[in-house]
Amino acid sequence: MARYIGPVCKLCRREGMKLFLKGDRCFTDKCAFDRRPYPPGQHGQARIKFSEYGLRLREKQKVRRIYGVLERQFRKYFASADRAKGVTGEQLLGLLERRLDNVVYRLGFAATRSEARQLVLHHHVQINGRRVNVPSALVRTGDRVTIREKSRQIPRIKESVEGAERRGQTTWLELDKENFTGTVKGKPVREEITLPINEQLIVEFYSR
Ligand code: SF4
Repeated sequence: MARYIGPVCKLCRREGMKLFLKGDRCFTDKCAFDRRPYPPGQHGQARIKFSEYGLRLREKQKVRRIYGVLERQFRKYFASADRAKGVTGEQLLGLLERRLDNVVYRLGFAATRSEARQLVLHHHVQINGRRVNVPSALVRTGDRVTIREKSRQIPRIKESVEGAERRGQTTWLELDKENFTGTVKGKPVREEITLPINEQLIVEFYSR
């Protein structure tokens, strides 16, 4: 599946908030959003008043960019969330959270979701002892997500696991640092998604 490969700090500036797409750099004074907290481009500093449509579009784009999902796949997630029982917005975020690349990131094996995606694509990750190289694979309750034994010595992975707590832990994922293993204890918890997201606006965007 394709992915966005353009400049990512621009995305934070466009969405008007830090999306934490560059890992540790986001916490330093090199953060582009901290330096220039206005949208990119020639008219970036002009006052913008969003229409109702614009507001909903920006919310949808923001969530897509946080999880690194392109439009076609995001629309499919929305369609599944819409079919599922329960609140559509929460179902949508639940699906995005259950993506393997997101789980690898949340467990602290990678500093960003794009790095987590690369770990998956490069065959460093296993689910229940089986190699999986599909970043969009959805984990289920009881699954064990592991870093392959051979890959545990890779400095970047070791470094990430050391600092896993810094990125904040979730209660639905349990990390066993020693064994580079995470267990899915249940369903994603909405309250643990700390970035400000109004999923209802996304539902309204697609329900036009
Ligand atoms: Fe966004 Fe700042 Fe991180 Fe760049 S460094 S991705 S602007 S939070």
